Amino acid sequence: MSSTSADDSTRDRGPDEAFCRDCGAVIDARAEICPECGVRQRDPPKSSIDSALDDLLEGGNPFVAAVLSAIFPGLGQLYNRELERGLVFAVGFIVASVSVMVFIGFLLAPAVWLYAVYDAYTRAELRAEELQRAADREHETEISVSEADDEEREE
Ligand SMILES: [Zn+2]
Repeated sequence: MSSTSADDSTRDRGPDEAFCRDCGAVIDARAEICPECGVRQRDPPKSSIDSALDDLLEGGNPFVAAVLSAIFPGLGQLYNRELERGLVFAVGFIVASVSVMVFIGFLLAPAVWLYAVYDAYTRAELRAEELQRAADREHETEISVSEADDEEREE
């Protein structure tokens, strides 16, 4: 009588069996509650979609939080149930975006104006060089003509 119960408690764990996490009895691996002591072996089963959704909505997943805040600053904070932080980030991002646009506008106008001044200046120099070259060419032809005249006269 006692030998059978001793055999029961010392027998090796089979492939579909597990030890109770409370009393250590060998039980079916799929058992939710230990038949020996009645302790629940695992949390009530959830469908994988349910648990995935829970994970998604519960917050605390750093990857999801980061992706959400990358999509729009504040979303990741909302996901972490930090409404105030989320609002600060969202408003901050909007203000920063607008100020960047305004800043670019303020920068762009003087930049275009400056470039126009610079362009006019450098182009005028080029034009002056062009005019000078044209004048030189006329002068050179005058000289060569007079030189030719001189040569003719010498002969
Ligand atoms: Zn047990």
